[in-house]
Amino acid sequence: MKFGGTSVGETDCIGRVADIVESHRSAGDEVAVVVSACSGVTDQIIAVTDEVMASKEQPRIETFLSTIRERHLRLLNAVAPDHAREVAAVIDDRLTRLQNILTAVHTLKELTPRSRDYVISFGERLSAPIVCAALKQRGIPSVVLDGVEAGIVTTANHGDARALPVSEERIRARVAPLLADSVPVIMGFMGATEQGVVTTLGRSGSDYSAAVIGAGIDADEIWIWTDVDGVMTSDPRIIKDARVLHDISYLEVMELSFFGAKVLHPRSIEPAMQKNIPIRVKNSFRPDVPGTLVLRDKHQEKRVVKALALIEKVALVNINGAQMVGRPGVAKTIFSALAEREVNVMMISQGSSEANISLIIDESHLEAAIAALTPIAKQGIVREVTYDRDVAAVAVVGAGMAGSPGTGGRIFSALGHAGINVMMISQGSSEVNVSFVVKGGDGKRALQVLHDEFRLSENSDD
Ligand code: ADP
Ligand code: ASP
Ligand code: MG
Repeated sequence: MKFGGTSVGETDCIGRVADIVESHRSAGDEVAVVVSACSGVTDQIIAVTDEVMASKEQPRIETFLSTIRERHLRLLNAVAPDHAREVAAVIDDRLTRLQNILTAVHTLKELTPRSRDYVISFGERLSAPIVCAALKQRGIPSVVLDGVEAGIVTTANHGDARALPVSEERIRARVAPLLADSVPVIMGFMGATEQGVVTTLGRSGSDYSAAVIGAGIDADEIWIWTDVDGVMTSDPRIIKDARVLHDISYLEVMELSFFGAKVLHPRSIEPAMQKNIPIRVKNSFRPDVPGTLVLRDKHQEKRVVKALALIEKVALVNINGAQMVGRPGVAKTIFSALAEREVNVMMISQGSSEANISLIIDESHLEAAIAALTPIAKQGIVREVTYDRDVAAVAVVGAGMAGSPGTGGRIFSALGHAGINVMMISQGSSEVNVSFVVKGGDGKRALQVLHDEFRLSENSDD
């Protein structure tokens, strides 16, 4: 069971976490817990670290530390009074370490990717001991483990590390034996390289930690406890009448999360999928609501289009030039250059004349993409490279689309009727996803138009 930031952010939330774990233990289940930082803490650590790097004057390290100290101690005292002294000492020790590092960063004006990863892992280092103490307060034996102690070995790709296969046997050896007699509480979001250097798994990476741990212990199910009732037909912050899905397939939810549906981290699906472990997404504020079950196959939802996602921080790159026509190897040159600079290409579309290739990339990768493509244009392999930052990508997801002609027509005529201009279209070979690109300002409206067109707010058990 993974509990996200809002599920551990307040005293009554941690109380509910303890209730949930307690009721499953008493029903005879063995439970491993993965926790995020308390809501907002990782953002705050990142903000103060940036400030420490940038400011010439004495930055507000002390004020920051006393604010988060006060918050964590308040939570601790409320949920685990009997363990407060011992755990407060642990928290204070960690805060002193954090203070020392931030001071060093300020003095040296140096923040390497590896030190940054260590610093931003502190949110989970502070929240996990509190959750562990809350369980002990209920008489549930519990031990706390950081990601490394739990066995998560990763690539050295700081800020976006992936778990290596060797993690599986380590997790099995370290976490599984604890389950019979206790509830291990594992800090999400972090791991370490084989050399022991701390890494983080990307923002929202605790979902991924949970999936890796779940796969490692051969869990019967992986439960992601969050602040909404399950995976919904679209982002409920944008689409007011979004509806909770009863179930969804791994591939469908993977496409949604890849296109920005924050409810699950994109990488959290694969470890579960490989072992065919169902993922259940549930609301920790309303544990009685069944939530969404993520499974290999589509189950009860019969409709063709199931859900929509919108990603706004992307850029469109157009690579033009007749020289590309019929010339083998051009695509290879382009994509190798992009890969070398670690540009993540989200969508590709190529005209049949081959005179144009369009790409959608993360907006933060645009500079790197231009730097990669400019030399290729100079060599005359392509004529010009243009880009547009003001775009949004929409993904229309549903396994039923594969065998259903006419869905594309319905999508694009609905957009046409709404006067929304489509700049690029791409269909994944899995046919689970049709995605397209519009002007930035049209993204949310396109989402609503399609949500209405496919009547996604209506119950689909027909
Ligand atoms: P946690 O802190 O529990 O990890 P997140 O904020 O990372 O929670 O993810 C949950 C949020 O994801 C929801 O509050 C919701 O606003 C957002 N979200 C975006 N798209 C969807 C979707 N399709 N279904 C459900 N939630 C979504
Ligand atoms: N605390 C980390 C973040 O805010 C990881 C997570 O919450 O999943 O990104
Ligand atoms: Mg999350």
